[in-house]
Amino acid sequence: MTAYPEAMAEALPPPTRRVSDEGAEDRLPPSKKVFALRNLPLGEIRAIGFDMDYTLARYRSPEIDALAFRKAIRLLVRERAYPLWLLDAPYDPDFAARGLVLDGSRGNLLKMDRERQVVRATHGARPMETSEMEAAYGRRRLDAGAKGFRSIDTLFEIPECALFALLVEASDGDRIQGKSSMDIFQDVRWAIDTTHRNGEMKGEILEHRDFFIPKDPQLAAALERLKRGGKKLFLLTNSEWSFTEGVLSHLLDGQDEAYPRWTDYFDLILVSARKPLFYLEGTPLLPAGEGAPVHAFSGGNAAWLEERLGASGQSVLYVGDHIYGDIMKSAKTSSWRTLMLIPELERELGLLESKGPQMRRLIQLETLRRRAQRRLSILEDQVQRTHHHRQVLAPRLSPDALDALNAEAAALARQTLDLERRTVEQGEEMARLLQEVEAAYNPHWGPMFREGDAQTRFADQIQQYAWAYTGAISNFYAYDPNGTIFAPLPALPHEQV
Ligand code: IMP
Ligand code: MG
Repeated sequence: MTAYPEAMAEALPPPTRRVSDEGAEDRLPPSKKVFALRNLPLGEIRAIGFDMDYTLARYRSPEIDALAFRKAIRLLVRERAYPLWLLDAPYDPDFAARGLVLDGSRGNLLKMDRERQVVRATHGARPMETSEMEAAYGRRRLDAGAKGFRSIDTLFEIPECALFALLVEASDGDRIQGKSSMDIFQDVRWAIDTTHRNGEMKGEILEHRDFFIPKDPQLAAALERLKRGGKKLFLLTNSEWSFTEGVLSHLLDGQDEAYPRWTDYFDLILVSARKPLFYLEGTPLLPAGEGAPVHAFSGGNAAWLEERLGASGQSVLYVGDHIYGDIMKSAKTSSWRTLMLIPELERELGLLESKGPQMRRLIQLETLRRRAQRRLSILEDQVQRTHHHRQVLAPRLSPDALDALNAEAAALARQTLDLERRTVEQGEEMARLLQEVEAAYNPHWGPMFREGDAQTRFADQIQQYAWAYTGAISNFYAYDPNGTIFAPLPALPHEQV
């Protein structure tokens, strides 16, 4: 059985200690924090860029996912001869989570740990047994970028997983005929892609903006504080002008008298940017679209952007939600500092807090279990030694001395049994607690950053490429635009005792 190690303590809400409660009113609630992985000296940052979708704009989930799911099904039925009953298939909002990987050829969805080994999987919508997983993937390190795999890097891809699973299951049960998993994988990709490109879904989102795009009352204030702090702000989105205008006018127009239009917050606006190609050669620079101001363009590339803003490399901070297109590529190719937006963080933090007592008990039990194992190994050695003494010394010992040695052996055996019994009880309590904690997270996949005591691939990617992460842009408001956001002090094992 896996267990949460002591390291988990770092992720827990702070223990209620009187001393640290001094200045408690100054403490930010975790959901309002920007978490730095490396010290982020905002004073060195000249330009801050923002992605739009799932960064400046949050979409109402799972309603928007259900919309994409339905529209993609309609396309598959209409244009790829999928059966009509699919039109009534229910959407399971919990089926997938970010950071998972689709395996197109086997029809599976995978959760991987930081070593890129599969730790949970479903075939279609059915959870796979450990033996089945081992048979398919063993202990191999998987490359999620290889052909036939698809990494779920943004929230836009969540409905794609549910649709793929539904169709794989239907194909296994002969309710869809003549399609391999790979055919289904490609059809689903086409359908979701078309749903985004043909304008129907975006039209519906804009038509019901108040419903699909919740407003964050602090967003404008956060941007305004950064501007007042001397930062150049830019928008860099793959969305086209008309959608960008529709979304951002809804969120930012009329929020601040000094910036009546959303376009006033940004020194440079780049739409249809084609990230990650944007960080390389990019695409030709064109006017953004009808009605756009002169500082708004479509296409372009990172080198041009840096020249135009007079900021490059580490003096640029880019904020986005796409682990590959926003974070990994901008960090690797342009050396920008990156801040990863994780809209799911608020919920994960809430769960960490509400399950804090259980997690603390788990950590305590794990510590006790490790100590007990150490003690058991010493006891077992003592039992063996006593046994050995008895054999060697028996012919030379008096009956009294022999009795004493027997009594010592019996006492040691009792202690060992006692300790073994306690360890079993602790193991049972841990299993119970672990189940309780995990059930609060995604029922199929558990926490997105962990699997038992291992970190996930998603957690590893963030740690490798992002300088910091947070749940919402408005969280910037609480930070001095020229101060430093500090990472936790690194500590060696002996400093943590
Ligand atoms: P960004 O996050 O602001 O860079 O914009 C993401 C854009 O990509 C949005 O306009 C989405 O509608 C679009 N998008 C997301 N998934 C797909 C896809 O599978 N095909 C085409 N466009 C997509
Ligand atoms: Mg985005």
